[in-house]
Amino acid sequence: MSDKLEFKTIVVPYDGSDQAKHALEVARGLIGGSEESRLMLLHVIPSGMVGATENVDGTVIDGVPWGLLDYETYKDVVDGALARIKSEVEESVGDAASDPRISIEAIADTSPAEAIAKYAATHGADLIVMGRRGLGALRGMLGSVSYGVLHSAEMPVLTVK
Ligand code: ATP
Ligand code: MG
Repeated sequence: MSDKLEFKTIVVPYDGSDQAKHALEVARGLIGGSEESRLMLLHVIPSGMVGATENVDGTVIDGVPWGLLDYETYKDVVDGALARIKSEVEESVGDAASDPRISIEAIADTSPAEAIAKYAATHGADLIVMGRRGLGALRGMLGSVSYGVLHSAEMPVLTVK
């Protein structure tokens, strides 16, 4: 048995906060060195927010109700928002973005916490590492996303400050 505790697939839910950055650092220290070891960084955009006031290129749409958009246009807006967020995450994590074991994904979902738990289960994660708090302004022990993930996830969850 190896004397180092290693995990094969770690999911790091990432919102760009200092605590999420710390979670990424901790996860990088825990991930195994083998070929199959993966660290999956995941950002969830609450889907009610996707493109609510923005066009694909980031310009503001003035008061056009979403119900009037056809599916293809709506999909373009969502895909554009996800691509933009993904490159923001890539920029924010610095050299981690070029680590071959690390993948970065942005998805849209109505519930970030449930989407994170489901993503981790679907990808066979053996650990989730996340911040206790995030970008929210309120102070307290846990944010709503970390609380929700602790509630929903079947695998071990490590929270860091
Ligand atoms: P709240 O959002 O409830 O006001 P908060 O922002 O302080 O409080 P959380 O949002 O629960 O706290 O953040 C805790 C951790 O959850 C973050 O450090 C990050 O790891 C993860 N996280 C938060 N939001 C997202 C998100 N949208 N996508 C992916 N991970 C997230
Ligand atoms: Mg938050």
